Amino acid sequence: MTQASPKPTAPTRHPGRGKGGRSQPKGRQVEPSALAEVAALLAGRQPRRDLLIEHLHALQDAHGHLSARHLRALAEWMRLPMAEVYEVATFYHNFDVVTDGEAPPATTIRVCDSLTCAMMGAEQLYQALKDDKDVRVVHGACMGRCDAAPVARIGHRFVERATPEAVRARVADAGDDPVPDHVGFDAYVADGGYGLLRACQAGEEEVDALLDRLDAGVLRGLGGAGFPTGRKWRFVRAEPGPRLMAVNADESEPGTFKDRHYLLSDPHRFLEGMLIGAWAVGAPTVYLYLRDEYPVVRRILETELVRLADLKLELPEIVMRRGAGAYICGEESAMLESLEGKRGLPRHKPPYPSQVGLFGRPTLINNVETLYWVRDVATDPAKFASEGRRGRKGLRSFSVSGRVRQPGVKLAPAGISARELIDEYCGGMAEGHAFKGYLPGGASGGVLPASMADLPLDFGTLEAHGALIGSAAVIVLSDQDDVCDAALNLMKFFADESCGQCTPCRAGCEKSVTLMQSGRWDRPLLEEVSRVMMDASICGLGQAAPNGLLTAFKYFPEDTKRRTG
Ligand code: SF4
Repeated sequence: MTQASPKPTAPTRHPGRGKGGRSQPKGRQVEPSALAEVAALLAGRQPRRDLLIEHLHALQDAHGHLSARHLRALAEWMRLPMAEVYEVATFYHNFDVVTDGEAPPATTIRVCDSLTCAMMGAEQLYQALKDDKDVRVVHGACMGRCDAAPVARIGHRFVERATPEAVRARVADAGDDPVPDHVGFDAYVADGGYGLLRACQAGEEEVDALLDRLDAGVLRGLGGAGFPTGRKWRFVRAEPGPRLMAVNADESEPGTFKDRHYLLSDPHRFLEGMLIGAWAVGAPTVYLYLRDEYPVVRRILETELVRLADLKLELPEIVMRRGAGAYICGEESAMLESLEGKRGLPRHKPPYPSQVGLFGRPTLINNVETLYWVRDVATDPAKFASEGRRGRKGLRSFSVSGRVRQPGVKLAPAGISARELIDEYCGGMAEGHAFKGYLPGGASGGVLPASMADLPLDFGTLEAHGALIGSAAVIVLSDQDDVCDAALNLMKFFADESCGQCTPCRAGCEKSVTLMQSGRWDRPLLEEVSRVMMDASICGLGQAAPNGLLTAFKYFPEDTKRRTG
């Protein structure tokens, strides 16, 4: 009997050793040339985690887009996982991420498709441009210029009251948008500017006395929440130091452009309020989070901030950061995440930012307009509080757009009605348009009919009607506008802008858009989805997203019946 020759056996393998060695290293590899380019571009900067968005801006400004090879190199340079860099880059609208094998985009034209621009012909503009050679034409979110709708954007250049011809001309002209006349440092100081800050720093002002005057002047948070300013500053002061301050200059509620107006016209009035806030809470550093859609404001601030050295005062460090196109970063805790270089996902509260804010420190967060009024209110609280109609107190800056003769920022008494605002401040309705309804507070504030245009516009006056004043963005609709189209536009906006963190908002917005785009609106189902969104969403975006739809059902039965059948 012959013995079978032994079968060759596989080499002994230690359990857990896996399938053996790789023929190439795991994951995508960093190209040395890309790493060298990133290192050269960011030379002198720090690879800190919180600077990720700033570094992404630098890359995009230099190359016009973010290529996969540069993102990999940036991850390596910053010692971050590629997944983190990629998820941040793709979270923000303004970053143009190009994956391997994709051609870099040609010149990109973004046509704003928010409600006012849509009413003013944005879709026709998009259609007229979309087949142009050597450009890529895409829809874009609100650009903060609703009084000059429709608006288009080419990089950091903007075309207001855009026509196809004007946009094509701007594509060919690479020059920066001009800086408008504004109150510069010398003029502001000559008019008594920074006198209050000087008095604060010289010990001639007590913090508590100043906060009492802000209370007496009824200064409230004018970014949308309406929280009493003095009380907020006291909360932060009561927390242990070190404390920080963060300014939200990322207004992106469709229809809102008042902060831009003040920053473009009188930036030092805002800066003085900001510096007084930092003094009051003892913040050694102030972070200024500015909308990237406001490049001219950035240039103005860069110039004017340098002039502050002429005051010869001990000022806090001021760190200017660029937003990157995310509506949700108007929510204070999402803004803090973004300032830390992350995706703008709202935090669960409590703790509140006044307790645990930026980098874990107690943080004072204010909106631009709130700070803009600090000097005036603290100097003469009775004057500010004496403004107002129907028992309301103070002034409000209404961003008015839509079917009025003279859109723009209108400084008017709190408690004014929409009808008065249109007639007294906007020259009435636009030629050929009859007043049909209005959005009192931008995309999230609901839609009210003209028959309810005598309600006082202020914090707390509209909630009973399913509406909100928010940032006082009043969009006026006429008999030529379909409220259902408006409601769909708003819901699409929220579906685009949902951060995706919670299911009721993420799925609810998308489901609502799908239902509203189908032939017939299923009202019971749409209302059920809305209820879930309002009850169970983490933050105000999901909770307020159905306001437009629900108020359309409630107040515009003739429009909605055509959809529900
Ligand atoms: Fe994000 Fe929407 Fe949830 Fe807010 S409600 S956390 S935006 S998913």
